[in-house]
Amino acid sequence: MSLEVLNGIMIFIIGTIFGSFYNVVGYRLPNNMSIVYPSSHCPNCNHKLRFYELIPILSYLFLKGKCKVCKKRISIFYPFFELLTGIVFLLSYLSYGLSLKFIISITFISILIIISISDIKYYIIPDEVLIVGLVLLIIELLINNYVNNIGLYKAIVLPLLNGAASFAVLYLFKCFGDLLFKKESLGGGDIKLLFIIGLTLGFDMSLVVIFLAAFIALPLSVINLIKDDNNVLPFGPYLAISSAIIMLSKVDINMILNFFIK
Ligand SMILES: [Zn+2]
Repeated sequence: MSLEVLNGIMIFIIGTIFGSFYNVVGYRLPNNMSIVYPSSHCPNCNHKLRFYELIPILSYLFLKGKCKVCKKRISIFYPFFELLTGIVFLLSYLSYGLSLKFIISITFISILIIISISDIKYYIIPDEVLIVGLVLLIIELLINNYVNNIGLYKAIVLPLLNGAASFAVLYLFKCFGDLLFKKESLGGGDIKLLFIIGLTLGFDMSLVVIFLAAFIALPLSVINLIKDDNNVLPFGPYLAISSAIIMLSKVDINMILNFFIK
């Protein structure tokens, strides 16, 4: 087996383990629960999970999606996000190889996955995830500057300005939307998330992310409107999907402009 295939398999497996941890963080943090205590258990009967019930994806399959003791169904969300994290880790490796950009990619996408889990389940994007993610990304940018000597302005200042500009744009959208719909149109978490998206992908691509997210979310919003469902749709996961597509495909603004101008 070639080294690349072996690396790919290892990175996928590590990704599923991280995904299993992100499930815990995404579900517990908005509830002000500790991430480490109590250890994983069945929410129905409190049965404490043994190590063989904690293997990402496989345990769900062994247990046929049910708690071993009380037979209560386990949400398909858990193995889904484990598999998803494994896949995006692998795709990051395929896009960037074993490089600093790979570390930035998995950090960025990990933030996106955790906030999606919280946003889907509780309509909350936890500040803690954004802050820890931001600090990690800035450290990685500093290392990038140290290794590649690209200058503090280009390495750190510019990404921070990009983040601030992206934040400001979505904030304006929100003010406009609030006036238009006469209710809260976007959550504060979505706007803060845009700071991280702008920082990582650049200001121009963060605008593409907003556009793409709205484009994906639109059909579902219309269905919601027809059903007269007053539930707000969480926008975070759409921002997350769009950002991940752009991060992994390495599409930049010039490619998009060339495509439309030709
Ligand atoms: Zn149980």
